[in-house]
Amino acid sequence: MKRPPDEPGQPVAAHAQGTQGILEAVRGGAASVEHGYEIDDETIVLMKEHGTFLVPTLSSALRVPSPEKVPPYLYQKKTLWSQIARDHLEVALSAGVKVALGTDAGVCPHGQNLTELGHLVDLGLRPWQALQAGTANAAELMRLSADLGTLEQGKLADLVVTTKHPFRNIHDLAVPDSIRAVVQGGHVKKDLDEQFAPLAA
Ligand SMILES: [Zn+2]
Repeated sequence: MKRPPDEPGQPVAAHAQGTQGILEAVRGGAASVEHGYEIDDETIVLMKEHGTFLVPTLSSALRVPSPEKVPPYLYQKKTLWSQIARDHLEVALSAGVKVALGTDAGVCPHGQNLTELGHLVDLGLRPWQALQAGTANAAELMRLSADLGTLEQGKLADLVVTTKHPFRNIHDLAVPDSIRAVVQGGHVKKDLDEQFAPLAA
């Protein structure tokens, strides 16, 4: 199908970890770089110029397996790259690169995806910036801002309800029970306290 001339091309996400791969992805026009563990100053400048999103995927990088459970080479590799990720992403996050939240879903326990928010804050984002990465920024990257990303009239109800205060301790959100309700695309998916029961009646 021929694409209308004013419509931008298909966005590409590059799962790039080493410096050169990240640089090539950004130069090539990728919409986002997932991981970006060895990002350097040159690439940070270029990403800001291009408006490229960084999706740090720290849930993968910081998850070092127990040395008894994996071969020594793998343990050493994970330990090394975990530190590389911390050192480089801390610089990128403080430099103001656009960040969207992602976890490489499947490599960490499902249901604890919001652990990623705490990782982002540990490496320098303010809690509100981490929340923005997981909401408005993620919707922008996915080109879904018309329907998702912020609580606004006319958009789909797509939200979570929590009794925790994310600005006091964002790590609380990593515990599944602290998320009391989930509404996805206008449909109630979880409602531990039956807050939405009157709507369903
Ligand atoms: Zn990946």
